[in-house]
Parts: sequence; C-alpha cells; structure tokens
Amino acid sequence: MINPYYVRLKYHKMFNIAQKLHFKGTIFCDSGGFQLSTNSVLSRKNPVRKYTQDQVLEDQIGLGSDYAATLDFPLDPRASPRNNRARIQRSLSNAERAVSLVQAQKASTIIVPVVHGYNRRMIRSVFKRVEKLENELSYNFPIIAVGSLVPLYADRSNIGSLRLAHAFQAVLEFVPSGRAIHVMGAGSPLSMRFYYWLGAKSLDTRSWITNAMFGKIVMPGRDSGRIHISRLIQKFGPRARLCKCPSCMDTTLVEMSKSRMKRAAHNAFAYLREFKKIRREFREGTFEDSTLRLLKRRTFFRRIIRVGSLSK
Ligand SMILES: [Zn+2]
Repeated sequence: MINPYYVRLKYHKMFNIAQKLHFKGTIFCDSGGFQLSTNSVLSRKNPVRKYTQDQVLEDQIGLGSDYAATLDFPLDPRASPRNNRARIQRSLSNAERAVSLVQAQKASTIIVPVVHGYNRRMIRSVFKRVEKLENELSYNFPIIAVGSLVPLYADRSNIGSLRLAHAFQAVLEFVPSGRAIHVMGAGSPLSMRFYYWLGAKSLDTRSWITNAMFGKIVMPGRDSGRIHISRLIQKFGPRARLCKCPSCMDTTLVEMSKSRMKRAAHNAFAYLREFKKIRREFREGTFEDSTLRLLKRRTFFRRIIRVGSLSK
C-alpha cells in the first residue's frame, strides 16, 4: 500500500513504483485524503497543495496502482448529522468521478470507494447509493474500503466498543455480495486481528510509524504490546539490541532512541511478522481460537464479545 501524498512531497513527480522497487505484488494506492485532514499528526510544514479527486487519480495511475482508493471526507463524531451527511455525499461524488475518469481513460486501475458510517442507518443508505452508482456506471467495485471506524475504536468507553462492532456488522449486512471489505487505518496488531475476526478481508495500518514518532516500540512476541524506548534502555541498558529483525541486528537501543526511522523499521517488521502469523493461522484453521483467546484478555474487546450479539 502506498500513498501518493508522500511521493508528491518527496519527489514532486510520479513514477512507476513497481518498476522502481522491483516489486511484483499488488499495489493499492491510498488517496492522501487523511494526510490533508486535521486528524493527521504528520508534519504540516510542507503540505501538498489541496488535492482534488482528478489530481489524486492522475497520480495513482502515474504510480502504476492496481487499486486506487477514492479521495474521501472522513466523518467527524462531533459534527452535526447534516454536516456528516454532506461528507458522505462528497465522498460518493468522488467515487463517481474516479470511475468516470478511469472509464474515459481506459486505465486498468481499479477504483476502491472509501465509505463511512457510524450506525446501521447511515451504512445502509451508503451501500444503497454505492449499488445505485454501480448500476448507473456499469461498474463493479470488487473491494470496498471502510473508513471512520478509528474514532469509534479510540473511544474506549463501553458504548464506543459496541458502536464499532455494530457498525461493522451493518457493513457486512449491507455490502453487495461478493465484495471484499478493506479497513482503512486498522491500528495495532491486536486490532488488526479484531477486524479480520469481524470479517474484514484486507486492511492497512500506519500505527507502526505513529508509534515510532512517539518513541514507542512494538514488542516482539505474542501480545505485541508497546513500550517507550527510554523504558527499554532503563531495563536492558543502552547497548542492548531488541530483536533479530533486520533493523535491530546492527542497532543498539540508544541508536534506536535517536532514530525515528530505525524505530519505524523495527515496528514495521513486528507488524509484518504478525501478518504472516495471521495468514498461517487462517491456513491452519486456528485463527478463530487464538484470536478469541487474545481478545478476551482485554477489557475493551471482552465487552464486545460478552454481548453475544455478534453473530458472525
Ligand atoms: Zn527489531
């Protein structure tokens, strides 16, 4: 998964990323919408000029993306229902615009609409409109991305956890059949598991890099907890090495405390290990059991599981 925003910021032009990186896998390109929003914690010193849907898609195609997320307008839990409805409308208009553009250009990039909704009613209406759009444009979205779940997730109250679970249930209920759900910004390794457990087929996360920015290290091992680098130095000494990942092999803890990139690289390797493990568990049929065991250890998830209304 790549983001055209950073390519614009750093290189000022697009290039075929698969060729450049000798990468043979599928390329899913985000829209950069989050980076332009006020939710982003990233540096706003050199913001890219306001992206429009047309410019984003041009860059996404320029990067050689197989899949391109549409430029969306995330909901705001504090905004009025009317204001949030307008955001939904703008996000859907961009999806429509993006499809028209790839159709006109005969580009092979597949459009992934990013949809939002906090509750069953909103989500039902969003998917109704997605289906209508598909009919009007004679286009099928094989993947539909879901955003705006983060504020629900971040709300650690009882109600927040339930709203999240119910919103996701509604997504699965109303999504047209045969489509894969992708979760935008799935968070920690444990919440990644949680979304897969709920029924997501694909997800992305940037918490490995946000953790690194705040000095936090994702710990190798089962629970994938996070700990501040200064506490690791206190515990193991400045010259210790954390793990055997390619980033830590030639890096001491004190070097890690000075380099955000090294922390981010270690965190990325920890997340990749978790992805591999999840994939293995799916193959071996142990995913459900081991995930429930892990989720039950956390109060936030225990509440959701206990309600029992989560019929999957
Ligand atoms: Zn490491």
